[in-house]
Amino acid sequence: MAVDSPLQSRTTSEKDVKALNFIEEMTRSPDSVQEKVLGEILSRNSGTEYLKRFGLNGSTDRKTFKTKVPVVTYEDLKPEIQRISNGDRSPILSSHPITEFLTSSGTSAGERKLMPTIDEDLDRRQLLYSLLMPVMNLYVPGLDKGKGLYFLFVKSESKTPGGLPARPVLTSYYKSDHFKRRPYDPYNVYTSPNEAILCSDSSQSMYAQMLCGLLMRHDVLRLGAVFASGLLRAISFLQNNWKELARDISTGTLSSRISDPAVKNRMSKILTKPDQELAEFLVEVCSQDNWEGIITKIWPNTKYLDVIVTGAMAQYIPTLEYYSGGLPMACTMYASSESYFGINLKPMCKPSEVSYTIMPNMAYFEFLPHEHDGAGDETELVELADVEVGKEYELVITTYAGLCRYQVGDVLRVTGFHNSAPQFKFVRRKNVLLSIESDKTDEAELQKAVENASRLFAEQGTRVIEYTSYADTKTIPGHYVIYWELLGRDQTNALPSDDIMGKCCLEMEESLNSVYRQSRVADKSIGPLEIRVVQNGTFEELMDYAISRGASINQYKVPRCVSFTPIMELLDSRVVSTHFSPSLPHWSPERRR
Ligand code: AMP
Repeated sequence: MAVDSPLQSRTTSEKDVKALNFIEEMTRSPDSVQEKVLGEILSRNSGTEYLKRFGLNGSTDRKTFKTKVPVVTYEDLKPEIQRISNGDRSPILSSHPITEFLTSSGTSAGERKLMPTIDEDLDRRQLLYSLLMPVMNLYVPGLDKGKGLYFLFVKSESKTPGGLPARPVLTSYYKSDHFKRRPYDPYNVYTSPNEAILCSDSSQSMYAQMLCGLLMRHDVLRLGAVFASGLLRAISFLQNNWKELARDISTGTLSSRISDPAVKNRMSKILTKPDQELAEFLVEVCSQDNWEGIITKIWPNTKYLDVIVTGAMAQYIPTLEYYSGGLPMACTMYASSESYFGINLKPMCKPSEVSYTIMPNMAYFEFLPHEHDGAGDETELVELADVEVGKEYELVITTYAGLCRYQVGDVLRVTGFHNSAPQFKFVRRKNVLLSIESDKTDEAELQKAVENASRLFAEQGTRVIEYTSYADTKTIPGHYVIYWELLGRDQTNALPSDDIMGKCCLEMEESLNSVYRQSRVADKSIGPLEIRVVQNGTFEELMDYAISRGASINQYKVPRCVSFTPIMELLDSRVVSTHFSPSLPHWSPERRR
């Protein structure tokens, strides 16, 4: 087991020493912390309907828990979640009241999954946040001498039939007093005022945050968003709006597009006078065709980008490198709506080397070896302290809010240890085929969407005989591209009209899950879906190519998503027509009942 040198020997700030000591304490004996966490969860929840059902009779030890309580997925818990959502306040999953549901980007039957949460979970999330800067300060000095430009947003929320709020975890956090009334900390000063972050109109919010970032451009030491896709949207917003922003700066007056009273009021205290020099600088830099390195041109003191570029976000690394002139990218934490998990103890490492150390106090963690065939032999689950370097596991968690042995759906690989705590590389999310932002589309959803769309020309006798897909992130926002090979009734290939093909694109979007449609409609973070029709015989060529590279002819399956350059080139060279969705699909914050 590789043991890193203790963290705290490299810092002097009292607050940082305390945080780093805490990390050391947690990582030195993860097994005993885990035992304690499970004991606490089981004793406080011993009277819940869920634990009683499995005859735990108050036992709080790991062995009994593992023998009696099954490993579950969201679908297994749906009846309980439904009852809580409908207003049943009895202790079903948790003895502490469920205060709200966090809407995960993972979906079930096309809708976001609802994750129960309790009041004190906010403290746990904040605890994890409080560890990030002490770790960062070990690698990047002087971060108290300036500000962070972070593009942070709240998203729309709804209420369950029983009256509980249902909203994304970050929306819940930004709206909490933990965030709004955070005490001043020189290491956590943002250019964005709370009013701009909390503005529910994402365009006004972005405009105000960008304007503040520009006005304070010399103070900015780090620049970020939660995910890489969010930071790229901010760059694209600047591309589309720099003239208006420069006008505001040169006149010292706020654009009339900001109508939110709280944002207007706050901005009037930030944009107080014209700054002709800054406006001219912006016009000069932004009017150039080449935006390579634009981030460092506008924010010259930026030391690193703070964005997640692991997992599905890795596809954005080259674009971010282009705009930032190769600034380091720090992936600081790994978290979800179910629970926050862990932090990166070497945040300045290369994206390909990022490993997260799971903090054993956040929840009780188990690991399902990934070679596992899904047959469900729960005795195979491994403890946090017992995972082996090089092996892949699926994360299974038991939370204070009442999820018991819940499969998160993330596949992780053990890369090493910090003290006795394992560190994990995020490998992938199970069953995700396409993702642009927080959307996650699986094979079954794509199949259904293709089926629904192809009905639009079924009468004409045309069929989709093969298809595959591609997440095109070269444009901002990115969009889904679906390649179709069509066959006409009498072997001819009379294509359906452009009008019908456009309708097919829209029908596919209507068939995709609510996270996709929300990203299209409310967040505008995904562009119109595109269908590229390819010549007949293209998919056979694709098979020939795979076989030439060693695939078995008997076992060959058409890949339902492609990204490998030679395959993309082959497909694109056979395209006969392209079609885009002509309008937005339907979406509303309310869940389908
Ligand atoms: P949600 O439930 O919508 O909050 O999404 C949580 C999921 O996002 C996790 O289960 C992961 O699949 C993904 N995720 C979160 N943090 C990271 C990270 N640092 N790297 C890669 N994927 C992440």
